[in-house]
Amino acid sequence: MKIIKKILLAGLVLIVIFIIYLLFNTLNFKSTQLKYEPVAAFKIKSTSVENFSKAIKIKTVSPENEIDFDSLQFQNFEKFLIETYPLVDSILEKKTFNSFSFLYKWTGSDLSLKPIILMAHLDVVPVIEENISDWKHNPFGGEIINDTIWGRGTIDDKVGVIGLMESVELLLKTDFKPARTIYLSFGHDEEIGGVNGAKAIAQYLKNEKVEAEFVLDEGGSIVQHMIPDIEKDVALIGVAEKGFISLELSVKMEGGHSSMPEKETAIDVLSNAIVKLKQNPFPAIISPPIDGFIENLGPEMPFVNKLVFANKSLFESVITGIYEKSGSGNALVRTTTAPTIFNSGVKDNVIPQFASTTINFRIIPGETIASVTQRVKDLIHDDRIMIKKGDFISEPSNVSSTSSFGYKTLQRTISEIYPDVLVAPYLVVGGTDSRHLNEISDNIYRFSAIKLNKGNIKSFHGLNEKLPVSDFENSIRFYYQIIKNSATN
Ligand SMILES: [Zn+2]
Repeated sequence: MKIIKKILLAGLVLIVIFIIYLLFNTLNFKSTQLKYEPVAAFKIKSTSVENFSKAIKIKTVSPENEIDFDSLQFQNFEKFLIETYPLVDSILEKKTFNSFSFLYKWTGSDLSLKPIILMAHLDVVPVIEENISDWKHNPFGGEIINDTIWGRGTIDDKVGVIGLMESVELLLKTDFKPARTIYLSFGHDEEIGGVNGAKAIAQYLKNEKVEAEFVLDEGGSIVQHMIPDIEKDVALIGVAEKGFISLELSVKMEGGHSSMPEKETAIDVLSNAIVKLKQNPFPAIISPPIDGFIENLGPEMPFVNKLVFANKSLFESVITGIYEKSGSGNALVRTTTAPTIFNSGVKDNVIPQFASTTINFRIIPGETIASVTQRVKDLIHDDRIMIKKGDFISEPSNVSSTSSFGYKTLQRTISEIYPDVLVAPYLVVGGTDSRHLNEISDNIYRFSAIKLNKGNIKSFHGLNEKLPVSDFENSIRFYYQIIKNSATN
């Protein structure tokens, strides 16, 4: 009896020590949020909003098929920029890449400082013809209704282009002279990979041996009520973005009449491969950007969440389990597997000789195109299946530091413009033009100073894209302030 009592007592002591350990970590899991004095919001002239509206009206669409590319619209957009921003046009040096992408250089007075590169893209995704009637306002009308500006590109990404141009024009008017050189980089084909725009610009910068202190592009934003158990708005700064590869799997087999099918058909073989891939997802991990996200937002959460996040090494599988529940959360913790195309068969009574499927993978930092492809081959383990890489591939980006000058300047600028916003690093699950600048800077950040919530998050690339005028105005203030904060010291 005595021994049992002793064992029970020892167990109890261990549990108490364990609880104390958890609580100790939780209490020491302190907020990382920094407080800065807000800067007074200067008045934005109505002409700025009108300029934004004009920019939306110019249909700089990157079409699905190259043949539909309307060069006149891009020429008009350049004309519009020249006429609207005469100081930018005359004072900054401008280089053109493949006719429609631009790099402006605003040379600083102190050439010992590494330059910064502020990016946005000029093109927008098409508006699908059959969906036009579902738009409440003309997608290329640039209409302003109840303090909201409507149209394709208001969020993605003309707010970046016009926000930058307005802020630089404004700074030039005040005779501001940067110590640090500032580049403005505007690609015209981001939505179709950025090869003729950002990639060409990056190649030029590389040839010029430009090494940037930091790069800022789109990709993160201020999210509202999108993170469970956090009431406050959260500015998510993309410190990395996932990679991209599509693999085409195909099978050639004997066909025949469907009245006498063989044991396995081409469709069976491919379906089986997809099932194997779906039943064996890539492992869930907490990658560095998400680790940073937890470190910065965990302390702002209610006690139970805080306890889990404060002890994340013990609760890693609990945490990834929480993320895995939703598609958007799952994308943050693993390389995702998404069959997107399946082709086979022509007639209901004929067994096809050929079947093919395309599977799209979004690669988490830590894995590579090679490791993903190898894992797929190993899992499928079937010589009858040919595996071919798609044309567009992209490795996951490097993970940028959260202690760099660039990150800190971003954090400060966000807090100065949006005083109540929490700031955290993040993993961008889509792709941006900034991935082409991997060799130009170690510090690449993805952030737009606009608010996204359940009401508008599906609108870019989708229906009824629109942006509150106040978000556009704050974007001008944000770029104005980040240039001041980073270019003067
Ligand atoms: Zn975009």
